[in-house]
This record gives sequence, structure tokens and C-alpha cells, in this order.
Amino acid sequence: MGKIIRVKCEGCGLEKDVYTGGSIRDCEIEMIMKLLTPERQEILSEAVKNGASGISVTREPCICVSCGEIYAYSAVFYRMNNIDKRLRGVCPHCGSENCISAKKCPQCKGVLSHSIAGHWD
Ligand SMILES: [Zn+2]
Ligand SMILES: [Zn+2]
Repeated sequence: MGKIIRVKCEGCGLEKDVYTGGSIRDCEIEMIMKLLTPERQEILSEAVKNGASGISVTREPCICVSCGEIYAYSAVFYRMNNIDKRLRGVCPHCGSENCISAKKCPQCKGVLSHSIAGHWD
């Protein structure tokens, strides 16, 4: 089960709920694929074919460096030939993978507070 984190700026009132953690549906490969770019989908499906194990997904609040959107940055982890691998997700709005953790407001540079707004699965 994942947490819904409310990212809030006291300065300008910017507020965004971000779905972090993992979902029970993360064991479905189709759901995981949606987080990845086509090239990385290929890497993952190739890995699955070749016996990748322990596939899991993490999400955390971050800010896209390119478009300033606050979103749940996702990373897909798996194990292949006893080596831990990671595939990064991208910004759902602009497709960039460059992001920073959500600490400073992208609008006014004020401090962002994080609070738990609920749970999801
Ligand atoms: Zn702000
Ligand atoms: Zn973006």
C-alpha cells in the first residue's frame, strides 16, 4: 500500500497530492510498463523473458527540472543474474527524467511541506 503525500507551499499556496510508495498492482507487468519509456519497456520485457526476479516499484515526490511539475517520480527495480538493476521513470507531463526532490516550491522557491493525505493501493 502506498501513501498519498500532500506537498504544499505556504508561500504561494501551491498544493499537490502525490501518490508515493508502491501499489498492489505493481506486480502486474502491464502497470509497470506504463511508467517507462518505450526503450526501457523493451529492456524490462527482455529482462523478464530472461528470468528477472523481484520486480518492484518505488515512487517519491519530486519536481521536474524541465517543466516544474510536481509528480511521483518512479523507479522500477529488479534482479538479474544476481545484480540489482534500476530503470527510471519519466515526468508524465513532459517526458523528462531530470528531477529533484520536492523541497523547494517551483513557483516561489518557498519551502514545501509534506504531509500524509491518505493511502492508496
Ligand atoms: Zn510557492
Ligand atoms: Zn516535466
